[in-house]
Amino acid sequence: MRFLPALLLISLSSFAQTNYDTVRIRPVKITDQIYMLQGAGGNIGVFLGKEGTLMIDNQFAPLSNKINGAIKTLDPGEIRFAINTHLHGDHSGGNENFKRMGATLVAHDHVRERMMKETVNRAGNKVPPRNADAWPLITFADKLNFHLNEEDIVLHHLDRGHTDGDVIIQFTKANVVHTGDAFVRYGYPFIDLNSGGSVNGFVSTLDKILSLVDENTKIIPGHGELASKADVKKLRDAIADIRDQVAAALKKGKKPEDIPALGITDKYEAEYGRGFVKGKDFVLVVTESLRGGM
Ligand SMILES: [Zn+2]
Repeated sequence: MRFLPALLLISLSSFAQTNYDTVRIRPVKITDQIYMLQGAGGNIGVFLGKEGTLMIDNQFAPLSNKINGAIKTLDPGEIRFAINTHLHGDHSGGNENFKRMGATLVAHDHVRERMMKETVNRAGNKVPPRNADAWPLITFADKLNFHLNEEDIVLHHLDRGHTDGDVIIQFTKANVVHTGDAFVRYGYPFIDLNSGGSVNGFVSTLDKILSLVDENTKIIPGHGELASKADVKKLRDAIADIRDQVAAALKKGKKPEDIPALGITDKYEAEYGRGFVKGKDFVLVVTESLRGGM
């Protein structure tokens, strides 16, 4: 049973309305070789060096030329690899364009599988398969290593959380991690049940990210400003607490539609309530995930 409220669907669909002409691509320096680029959509990670450039996520297709320009300003080298942290269009919308520019697309097995067939988007509408030029050329299930520019880069699939194709990218020497939307800073996270997301998997993914990082790790979230291990821990604990309270209420016989009125997220509203996922909607998604055995 799907009971996502209309309010959530409206706020999710308006999320995508952006005037790309006015978007500026802003680089944030993390190390001499690693930058975060912010524009519209998910945070882009860029890794530069004499053997070429590796980029993580690429926002929306109309921004590809601006993004390419911003990267080439930092380093004129060839963009050799373009990784997708997951399938969503605000992270992978430029796949066709960057492939055309010569990049090899890399993602999780499930990203390619989902791009090849019709899917259901965040607003609940059917989305046709992506153009074949957007499909990743290299895919993997659990772990993939890159050895580039004297850095060891590990791509991890830790669990199904935001979707069932989430990839976390770890620069082991630089101690930088890009989490994609497995960790975000816009408020309550979006758990995309239509794309295999799961609240239990979300918490498990955050636990595994915490085991990969230390107090000095610079963490590029899927959305929002640079973060630290403490920020990840805080979100992990909030989601685990909300999940446990929803599970307890369901066990006591509460009906799914009664869960939002229980005030489970009240103490988190100041911290997480300003994003596009509202607390009352978040508990409904958590409820649906738990009832689906996820
Ligand atoms: Zn996403």
